[in-house]
Amino acid sequence: MNLIQNTILTSLPANRKKTPSGWISFNAPCCVYNGETADKKKRGGLMTSADGTVSYHCFNCGFKASYVIGRKLTFKMRQFMGYIGIPDDTIKKLAIEALREEESDIKYEKKKFITFNRKNLPNNTKPLATWLEKYTTGTLSDTEQKSIDNMLTYLSSRGIGPDWYDFMYSSSKVWDVHQRLLIPFYWKGDVVGFTGRMFEESEGVKYYTDVWPGYVFNMDAQDWTRKFVLVTEGPFDAITVSGVSILGSEINDTQRELIDGLGRQVIVVPDRDAPGEKLINQATEFGWSVAFPQWEDGVDDVADAVLKYGRLFTIQSILKTTESSKLKIDLKRKMYG
Ligand SMILES: [Zn+2]
Repeated sequence: MNLIQNTILTSLPANRKKTPSGWISFNAPCCVYNGETADKKKRGGLMTSADGTVSYHCFNCGFKASYVIGRKLTFKMRQFMGYIGIPDDTIKKLAIEALREEESDIKYEKKKFITFNRKNLPNNTKPLATWLEKYTTGTLSDTEQKSIDNMLTYLSSRGIGPDWYDFMYSSSKVWDVHQRLLIPFYWKGDVVGFTGRMFEESEGVKYYTDVWPGYVFNMDAQDWTRKFVLVTEGPFDAITVSGVSILGSEINDTQRELIDGLGRQVIVVPDRDAPGEKLINQATEFGWSVAFPQWEDGVDDVADAVLKYGRLFTIQSILKTTESSKLKIDLKRKMYG
């Protein structure tokens, strides 16, 4: 953690909370300076990333600012720092500090910044909480009411709470989006894609996904006190154990770089199927660890295990059966498969 990130984090309004996808939310301090009424619904969101990036978004007046280590403190970021009560002379000192890092620290220049551009969510996408508010007050149309009902049934059948992630929903019918639970993909605070999981009984594709190649899901939500990162295949696997997901069963170069960049023990938890084998091969090639949790038949992935055993036991069963040497991994996979 660097000085600028640290100063901002310790200066945030006291009454704040952390959302499942990694936002620290609090009453936005910016709106009154931008011709809007003061925010009372905690619509200011701040996100910090492992590389020291700090992003602020106001979901009330639209004010945005960010700071990336190795770059200058922007005018907007300095404005934001003023809004949260950081004294002017401190901001000036930190701006000089940022300049110093920009000029002196060549490692930042050498490092390639991996970034993903923003993508739009489907029309009329709103947080699940907004839909649930209308659902409970009965102010939705009959078809919308029925859809939300089915979605809640689906979530409960998978043992996932509606508050485990910043899930969203849209009544748009393009790609059957109205029959899907939307999982927005964040990157340093921006929406850079999404997947929609079909919750209705349907012949249609299970997941409709719009994402940039190389993206790793749930990086922003990582708990930085953990010494390890759990790498899973599907988004629900990642959500249920606060890991990351490669959104498939093969890791590409960008994903490898991002995950290695976390600087922690990487533990791959493959699904128990044929493509999982490929993932194990890649893990040993990269020098990563692999977990061989002993779950009952019919429990095929992390999300299944959490449904059957709960989160804590599932994480324990992963950590207890993690192997790091290639020899042991090869031995275990023979016993396992
Ligand atoms: Zn604002």
